[in-house]
Amino acid sequence: MTAQIIDGVALSRQIRAQVAERAAKLAARGVQPGLAVLLVGEDPASAVYVRNKVKACEEHGLHSVLERHESTLSEAALLDRIAALNTDPAIHGILVQMPLPRHIDPHRIIEAIATQKDVDGFSTLSAGELMSGLPGFRPCTPYGCMKLIESTGIDLRGKHAVVIGRSNTVGKPMALLLLQANATVTVCHSATPDLALHTRQADVLVAAVGRRNTVTAGMVKDGAVVIDVGINRNDEGKLCGDVDYSTVRDVAGWITPVPGGVGPMTITMLLVNTLEAAERAATS
Ligand code: NAP
Repeated sequence: MTAQIIDGVALSRQIRAQVAERAAKLAARGVQPGLAVLLVGEDPASAVYVRNKVKACEEHGLHSVLERHESTLSEAALLDRIAALNTDPAIHGILVQMPLPRHIDPHRIIEAIATQKDVDGFSTLSAGELMSGLPGFRPCTPYGCMKLIESTGIDLRGKHAVVIGRSNTVGKPMALLLLQANATVTVCHSATPDLALHTRQADVLVAAVGRRNTVTAGMVKDGAVVIDVGINRNDEGKLCGDVDYSTVRDVAGWITPVPGGVGPMTITMLLVNTLEAAERAATS
């Protein structure tokens, strides 16, 4: 079997077009969805991420504010900025780019963001909403993975989903979203003794580890949906995921490539969350 490719670029394009349409409708009512992105320090990778987020906003009718701060900014000063943005009616979503300099506690910063503006979905309140099945903002990467799975047309009810990785930002929320969609879910991690024993049973396999070739062909059930969240570099320095794409695509039924799979969906779901924050604010 050669897997069908789940094209994250094409799906992103479709969803972003819908975002632009809904943003235009909201703007016609006098509300332009607004995202504030805060960057502290000069980490080059973070600078690229925030630029891409701001650019995506601008291209789809969302207003965005990029605040760059020196790495010496104090935690108190950053908390003051968040407090001001929390009450700014032009801002519907607030995102603080991680990692932060060591003298700033990321948990304190995330918890300071108003829940109705927590478009990254990282606060404990947002996590609690997800856990309880309440409406709220879902972390963008797992939310994007769910959209990729949905795009295959496969109903998750009764399927066995296996997630490799249990981080608060990817693995755990991914498992909860799959559970909410009525899959039976197994979560694996670095202390799982026989990873292949679990992955071979997966109708849907999500790899969120950060180590290339974690998933090889012998670990995948025939016809499975394989979602590769990992971002790694191969020996030639090229981007690759956690899945050995060239062999797994001969076994899987569906597979996301890296690049061009989960990556573009993460920013897309940030746009969706920001738009939804603005829509909720406009109707409240
Ligand atoms: P993380 O916080 O480092 O978590 C990695 C998880 O993998 C941990 O739960 C860890 O287990 C588990 N793990 C490590 N080695 C393992 C092994 N040998 N077998 C099974 N599990 C193992 O990373 P993350 O933030 O979740 O991100 C995971 C990957 O996704 C990274 O490559 C990251 O760059 C990428 N990512 C991509 C996007 C995107 O937009 N495409 C967004 C976010 C993240 P323990 O908990 O036991 O340590």
